[in-house]
Amino acid sequence: MSYCPDCGCKMYNGICTNCHEDLIIFDECLEYDIPMSDEFLDSVNDCRQRQQEYAKRPDVKRAMGVDER
Ligand SMILES: [Zn+2]
Repeated sequence: MSYCPDCGCKMYNGICTNCHEDLIIFDECLEYDIPMSDEFLDSVNDCRQRQQEYAKRPDVKRAMGVDER
């Protein structure tokens, strides 16, 4: 289990369940075939860009690596 260096919430593969909540919701909507508004899809795109920068950070990589042992 990995934890986000920013908020301490659970983080999977560089995606924080709190900071990148929109990405988690997006995946659930896809999985359960739930309709999504354009507004929501816009915020998912913003969130994905933030997450890509986030995953490049050394502290985030460390947080991911430490727990993989
Ligand atoms: Zn976080």
